[in-house]
This record gives sequence, structure tokens and C-alpha cells, in this order.
Amino acid sequence: MIQLYIPLNFLGVIYREIKQSLADMERLFGLLEQNKEVDDSPGAQPLHTTQGARVAFSNVDFSYDPKRQILFDVDFTIPAGTTTAVVGHSGSGKSTMSRLLFRFYDVNSGSITIDGQDLRDVTQESLRQAIGIVPQDTVLFNDTIEYNIAYGKPGASKAEIVTAARAASIHEFIESLPDGYSTMVGERGLKLSGGEKQRVAIARTLLKNPAILIFDEATSALDSRAEQAIQAQLKEIAKNRTTLVIAHRLSTVADAQQILVLDHGKIVERGTHQQLLAAEGMYAQMWERQQAKKDEELVET
Ligand code: ATP
Repeated sequence: MIQLYIPLNFLGVIYREIKQSLADMERLFGLLEQNKEVDDSPGAQPLHTTQGARVAFSNVDFSYDPKRQILFDVDFTIPAGTTTAVVGHSGSGKSTMSRLLFRFYDVNSGSITIDGQDLRDVTQESLRQAIGIVPQDTVLFNDTIEYNIAYGKPGASKAEIVTAARAASIHEFIESLPDGYSTMVGERGLKLSGGEKQRVAIARTLLKNPAILIFDEATSALDSRAEQAIQAQLKEIAKNRTTLVIAHRLSTVADAQQILVLDHGKIVERGTHQQLLAAEGMYAQMWERQQAKKDEELVET
């Protein structure tokens, strides 16, 4: 009986471990599983980013539910190696655009291309290899911080991991921990703050070195020092990459080569920060409102 009990007990422990890792995997891949209808087409080819990954949305219409259209005739190009930021009120469809670029869903009409290749004609594996996402909320595995960074590039050397961590401004923090890079993180280890988690995601992405980057800015309020740090890191990872920033704060988009203003699923304004301020439209209003809020905060503190 005892002989039987021990292995069973042991199996129980392993089962819990596996279940926990599966829960992590599920959370990570849950997004990918959102829509199983999106499949490789029979003749799908690997994506070739020959022109430096120029992204084009052409007259894109999209709805999750046929009764409610979310995007209307969305049309823009991100020239290779440049940054385009999308701003707009909550629910205007910003994150939906990033989901379509990652092909979690297919467009209803129009098309999305990368270097002229329609997303529906390329293999999903090659598409996801070409795109790095720094999400709002990063999933951490119950493993070491080193493993969590290396996840961006399986088999990465320690030197590569440290270089990525330095570029993401998290190396010093990791070194300050008693167990350094071997520190366990995740739900059952050290809990990281939102900003620290985002830095781990940035380090992962730097290791992955994708041609295209989607940066979904955290909605949670950051103090202005943390915000400046994130901006500096964003600049670092966006260098020479085609970047789509889903912005929740206007201060992070001022440097973008192109800003799109989305309102109820339609692009209503586009241009640089200066051009949009001069146009005195919706962007200028949003900017003024945000500046006023900042001034209020400054008075309060
Ligand atoms: P926020 O700034 O608040 O993140 P957003 O501009 O990124 O907002 P989206 O997340 O793109 O907005 O959502 C646009 C609309 O689509 C919202 O009204 C939302 O309710 C709806 N929506 C988002 N995801 C789904 C889904 N999986 N199924 C159905 N509707 C959805």
C-alpha cells in the first residue's frame, strides 16, 4: 500500500506542476486560440520580408460579430523601419488593428499585406516569427527570470540574455536580487511590477529580433519617470523596425513618423504630432485635455 501511495503522491505533485505550466501556456496561447477558424490556406508560403517589412492596411472592414462593425475602411501604410502610432478613445478599435496584423482574425473585406504579401497567403508560423508583441500585460512563466527572457529565443546564450536585459533596462534590477538571473518569478515566485514585467517583455522581444513590432502600451497609469523610461526603451526597440504603437497616452507618440486618430473604427485624422496640433482637430483637443490633466496633477503634488 505504502509502495503504491508514494508514486501516486509523487504523480500528484507532477500533475500539479504540469497543470500549472499548462495554465501558463494556456494564458500565453489563449490569444492564439481565440479564433481557430484562422488557418493556413492550402498553398500558404512562408512570409519573406524582402523590403524591410512594409505594412499596408487597404480598405479594411472588420467585425467580431456580424451585427456590429468595428473597423470601417481602415487604410494606411507603415513604411519599412518607421513607427506609426494609433490613438483614439477607449473602444475605438485600436487593439483590434494589432490583432488583425497578428492575424488572430481575418478581415471582412480589404486586405493587410507585409511587403506585398497578403497575410491570408502566408503561413501563420512565419508571420508570428516576423512580429514581436510587447503586450499590455506580460505573462510570466513560473520559472527563472533568465528562462522568461530566453523564451524570446530558445537556446539563447547567457551573454545574449544579459545584453537584451541591459537594453531593456532590467539588468541592474535582476543583479540586485539575491538569486540574480536564477530568481524564480511568476505567480509562485517573485511578483514583478507592471513596469518590470513590461521590461522582461521588451528583453524577450529584443532577443527575438523581429522585423515588425507591435507595442500595446500599458493602460495603467505610470509615474512620469517610469513613463520616460518606457519611452526610451520603446525608441531602443523600435529602431530600424516597422512598429505599430497602440497608444493610450499621447506623450508616448509625439516622436512617431505617423499618428492615426481612430474614432468609432474610422481613421479621422493622420499626420505627425506637429501637423495634428496645427490641424486643431480631435488630436489637438485630446492633447490639450491631457496637458491640462498633467498640470492639475502637478498642482496637486
Ligand atoms: P482601449 O483603449 O480601451 O484598449 P481599443 O480602442 O483598443 O480600446 P478594441 O479593444 O479594439 O478597442 O475594441 C473595439 C471594440 O471591439 C470594443 O467595443 C470592444 O467591445 C469590441 N471587442 C473587442 N474584442 C472583442 C471580441 N473578442 N469579441 C467581440 N467584441 C470585441
